[in-house]
Amino acid sequence: MNVRCSYCSHTFTLSREYMAQAVAGAAEKRQKYHAMECINCRKLIKVSVSQMRRYVPEPESPAGEEG
Ligand SMILES: [Zn+2]
Repeated sequence: MNVRCSYCSHTFTLSREYMAQAVAGAAEKRQKYHAMECINCRKLIKVSVSQMRRYVPEPESPAGEEG
């Protein structure tokens, strides 16, 4: 999945493995966004969890997605 940094406009690709971990971590904390460092400018950017979910297989779907 491609992510674009809102600070420096740098575009980079997230691996499926990384997204799987990010989605799992966000689900635990019930977060809608995953915060990560831009690989270019090192600023913290937010990536939509629901967007990442499309790229990783879900082991189980929690009830009520829009909370
Ligand atoms: Zn950046």
